[in-house]
Amino acid sequence: MAKKRIAKIDTKVQETLAKLEVDMVGVVLLKDIKGTKLAEAALKLLPSSKSIVVLGIEIFSEFLDLTSPERMAGEPNLNDIFTRHIEYLRGRINRAAYDIAFTSHAAGLKALPLPGRGPAVDGRFLEAVISYKDAAAIAGLGSLGMSSLLVTEKYGPRISLTVCLTEAALESTAGEPQKNCRFCNVCVFKCPAKALEIPKKGETYIINRFACRNYIDATGGCSECMRVCPVASPRYE
Ligand code: SF4
Ligand code: SF4
Repeated sequence: MAKKRIAKIDTKVQETLAKLEVDMVGVVLLKDIKGTKLAEAALKLLPSSKSIVVLGIEIFSEFLDLTSPERMAGEPNLNDIFTRHIEYLRGRINRAAYDIAFTSHAAGLKALPLPGRGPAVDGRFLEAVISYKDAAAIAGLGSLGMSSLLVTEKYGPRISLTVCLTEAALESTAGEPQKNCRFCNVCVFKCPAKALEIPKKGETYIINRFACRNYIDATGGCSECMRVCPVASPRYE
């Protein structure tokens, strides 16, 4: 019987993944998702990449509970405290993404650590050039909810993501697709911008990104869809 060929893993980079100070690490192999939108996006950014490493860090519910989509004129905007928290977390995951890149470089491999703030966006559709949440879902970190956010089993949608593309061959974490959204519709009904709709059959979510963006710009912040989600929420325990 022919022996099953086992792909060679770039050990140093693989070992680095276990040491990163983040809450979630997932790996998608480009060879496993050939021809998909995600693969094309990754290869456009780093044509020789073999792996997409997805990193996630928990957003604290204490900060999320301070947020509100509405406030009186002149009132302090507590959303700003939440924003500072997110900035700090993004610094942490940026550092982890660079740790993967440094180890890749030391092994003679190219890597592209993408910013925790998000990649470049196509302004015509408000669509990111690569979807961190799609990569996270394929990597087995969670599933997309009706809010359009990644919903994880442990942190619900309270997770900040980034991605590092690397030429390193790593162990895939992809498994059975998760189903963490409870389809409770709460995010849809609580969205103050009416940017979310109940998805039609076969769709996961419907979001009007322009309505969401305009609302956030006009009010100085909105995280309602994340705040009200009951999945892994301490508010509902
Ligand atoms: S961030 Fe606010 S406006 Fe945007 S989809 Fe979520 S609840 Fe709606
Ligand atoms: S609020 Fe309900 S419908 Fe929306 S993402 Fe969370 S579980 Fe899904």
